Amino acid sequence: MNESDIQSLQQRVTSLRAQGKYKETIEACFDLLKRGEESNDYKSILVAHLNSAASYYCIGDIEEAFRCISAYDEVCREHGDETDHLNRHNVLFLLYEYNKEFDKAKSTLDKAINLGTRLQKYNIVSNAYSNYSHLFLVERNFASALEMGKLGLEMAKLHSPPSAILEIRVKLNIAEAYIGLEDFKGSRLIIEEIENESVLDLDTYIRERVQFNMLNGSWYSHQGFYREAFEWLNRARDLVNRYDDTYLLEEIQKERCRLCEQMGDIETGFYAQKEYISVLLESRKRELERTALQLEIKHSLADLKKKATTDHATGLANRYCLESTANEWLREAADRCENIVCIVIDIDHFKCINDQCGHLFGDEVIRQVTEACASVLRKEDLMGRYGGDEFVVIIRGVPLDVGVRKAEQMLEAIRNLNVSCGETPVPISASLGVADNGAGTVLQFKDLFQLADVELYKAKQGGRNQVSVEDLFEEQKVQVERGSGASP
Ligand code: GH3
Ligand code: MG
Repeated sequence: MNESDIQSLQQRVTSLRAQGKYKETIEACFDLLKRGEESNDYKSILVAHLNSAASYYCIGDIEEAFRCISAYDEVCREHGDETDHLNRHNVLFLLYEYNKEFDKAKSTLDKAINLGTRLQKYNIVSNAYSNYSHLFLVERNFASALEMGKLGLEMAKLHSPPSAILEIRVKLNIAEAYIGLEDFKGSRLIIEEIENESVLDLDTYIRERVQFNMLNGSWYSHQGFYREAFEWLNRARDLVNRYDDTYLLEEIQKERCRLCEQMGDIETGFYAQKEYISVLLESRKRELERTALQLEIKHSLADLKKKATTDHATGLANRYCLESTANEWLREAADRCENIVCIVIDIDHFKCINDQCGHLFGDEVIRQVTEACASVLRKEDLMGRYGGDEFVVIIRGVPLDVGVRKAEQMLEAIRNLNVSCGETPVPISASLGVADNGAGTVLQFKDLFQLADVELYKAKQGGRNQVSVEDLFEEQKVQVERGSGASP
């Protein structure tokens, strides 16, 4: 995959998410992540993790969203720039807010504010203050909500080009804070300022228009004008119906019922309650749909993962999976000074087998050889197809001599295979090279493989049908002899 393919995959991810196609976004992210990892393209890896996190958030799978953010963090720490850090804070805030972990949400906002100010991204800083203000409103700390709202407004004014909607978003919180503080004049002034903004006449900002109607409802109801408040909430309801947000609708309908009770209007209250119940039922239905979607995504990802890591002909780990798993094991082994053995297996004269008995027969031999090898391995050992008729086995936590014994058992099992081409038995053998990671000193699969591959070459040179192992003792002996020869 070249650079432009990766870029178009990145664009596909963002566009799918913008369309609200979350399952497709997560699947495309999986693809992007794999491509990114294969080519060490950290930008793609970050885009994939971030968009997965945001999509999981949108379908209510917060656990998965947190998992994606941790994966994002790991890459971001080493390879991310400041904008990547800022993006992380934005998503993380949503997750904490969803979980009602307000302290953590606030500390994420602090980070966004500091970084955003340094980068002069005033829209982000203003939004962060606005979110801060919103959290304080939920906590009914109206003085702090007002303070944060005012800071958010200052920041919104610094944004270039000027953005009316940015200011409106903060003002909605400021006005609500004034209402909480029972400063109805202060809040009315802000409400009028919002009202005069022509940007709200557009159909684009329906959410803000809904909130504006709710704000007016709040202004009236806090002063005991329940009928007027009810009218404003009716407008909010009509608007939100077009914009399809069941959470917000639930909040509006609940408030309408409360207002009917305050008004003592039993008949209107009856209809308001009926509407509220149907919204609750709709919410429940959506919740179930989301759970079903979460499960569907889990299955589809498990399927994609399997396809991406398995060699179809043999069912073994493919080369990508082999390399990435082995690299992970080698990293862990280095921390624990653990020994890892690598065995490379290559079928002898396989070309002749193909030539004499056909490719399909050759395929069957490959399958039987892998089964024979697997029969002497433990469940926790890793066996993968490196390519063609070459396989690799990685065994953790054993010394070299145990690995050599395994290799000999595998060769024995291969030799004992009973395969025939028509009536003619075909003897099968293989050559095997064995090496280890020197108890944690080899850190990468490619280096460990190289050591074992050298041994495989020796086995082939030595007449095939045998196991060759890096003889450290012999090498040390030779080195000592050379050393002693050179000394006077
Ligand atoms: P050597 O003893 O030196 O290993 O000889 P060889 O004939 O086995 O040589 P080599 O390992 O280089 O060749 C492997 C051959 O395996 C080449 C290729 O045509 C064949 N091959 C690779 N993949 C497959 C496969 O999936 N199925 C079949 N039937 N053949 C394959
Ligand atoms: Mg071969």
